[in-house]
Amino acid sequence: MSKVLVIGAGGVSSVCVHKMAMNAGIFSEIHLASRTKAKCDAIAASVKERTGQTVHTYEIDAEEVPALTRLIQQIGPKLVVNLALPYQDLPIMDACLAAGVSYMDTANYEPKDEAKFEYHWQWAYHDRFKEQGLVALLGSGFDPGVTSVFATWLKKHKLKTIRTLDILDCNGGDHGQHFATNFNPEINIREVTAPARHWLNGEWVETPALTIRQNFEFEGVGPKNMYLMYHEEIESLKTHLPEIERIRFWMTFGDAYITHLTVLQNVGMTGIEPVRFQGKDIIPLQFLAAVLPKPETLGPTTKGKTNIGDIATGQALDGSGEKTFYIYNICDHEDAFHETGNQAVSYTTGVPAMIGAAMLLTGAWTGEGVFNMEQFDPDPFMDMLNQHGLPWQVKELAGPLTF
Ligand code: NDP
Repeated sequence: MSKVLVIGAGGVSSVCVHKMAMNAGIFSEIHLASRTKAKCDAIAASVKERTGQTVHTYEIDAEEVPALTRLIQQIGPKLVVNLALPYQDLPIMDACLAAGVSYMDTANYEPKDEAKFEYHWQWAYHDRFKEQGLVALLGSGFDPGVTSVFATWLKKHKLKTIRTLDILDCNGGDHGQHFATNFNPEINIREVTAPARHWLNGEWVETPALTIRQNFEFEGVGPKNMYLMYHEEIESLKTHLPEIERIRFWMTFGDAYITHLTVLQNVGMTGIEPVRFQGKDIIPLQFLAAVLPKPETLGPTTKGKTNIGDIATGQALDGSGEKTFYIYNICDHEDAFHETGNQAVSYTTGVPAMIGAAMLLTGAWTGEGVFNMEQFDPDPFMDMLNQHGLPWQVKELAGPLTF
């Protein structure tokens, strides 16, 4: 029985808070604070209608550390779950330390003026959390999050060591819009337009964004083009599972998405440098995000499935030589919407956020300091995925990917 404070009231938060309310035995009191209180109230109203549970709501700018510290002290939660944007990670961690409360998030810190997805800013908090006997769990979404837990599960139950790891993120959903992103547009476009980087034999290999493409047949979705990208779990996995020789991350994009993005990039609309416009500095990407459909509005129209998983190759645990396993979850956009009022990209992030919080609050995962998902026992997390809407499957493949 634990009190929790969730920060941020977008699509991911909406799913997570609904799922927390459905597990009142773990989350006995739910508090929700965000920049726009009306969005917290809308989530609270939906939760009340669907589950009968009460969510307490507040307005807060999470970048105002003293005000956030006071709010945390006033509420007195056991855990703060950060589902705002990556820019707020460090201020929220600062407020947690000032208030003496543990922390969790789903995406690593990014400075606003640089599209740099790196963990070192947050890892630098390790000693301060440790000294206070607090835990900070980083990246408890799907990717990062479940994809790292999938890797540790394979390492625990199927493979002695992992030699190569490919993470495949497929969204086969169609929202019926010309161009829209399935999570925060600003964060999504910064990620997709960044150079691709993968880990190979102890070094980063960098290639221009969206230039390496492969076609892959995804169960439940069909054949899709997927592109090599940088993704933050590569950094934490190569650190915590240093035996892995090659880690790559692939994400699917349709031709229309790529065409729109290319045009927007070519005309400068994805830039993050300020541009003077009518006497005011504006960031082109922030303006673009303001005119694009809000991800939380895509739920009612999105049809199709997501399929996200890991393909890992290494020496089998049973001594039978090198083996390859594919472990994945398939999630249906319409089912996700029916259950929580949000499409599957928010659902596949919000459910693992609830589960990560449950791991900490129930004591299934304990620690002092800053941790990534792959540093904990995967089994209790994997059990909860099966019970709470993200069932997974594992199958043996003939060998690693041939590209
Ligand atoms: P949204 O943009 O829908 O929601 C973000 C929320 O944060 C909004 O309610 C916003 O407020 C609030 N917010 C922004 N700035 C502040 C601030 N200064 N103080 C308080 N609240 C603030 O994003 P999503 O729900 O799509 O994504 C949430 C997080 O999940 C992001 O960090 C994203 O990167 C991460 N994510 C992780 C994934 C994973 O698999 N690991 C996958 C998808 C997303 P307002 O309503 O006023 O704008």
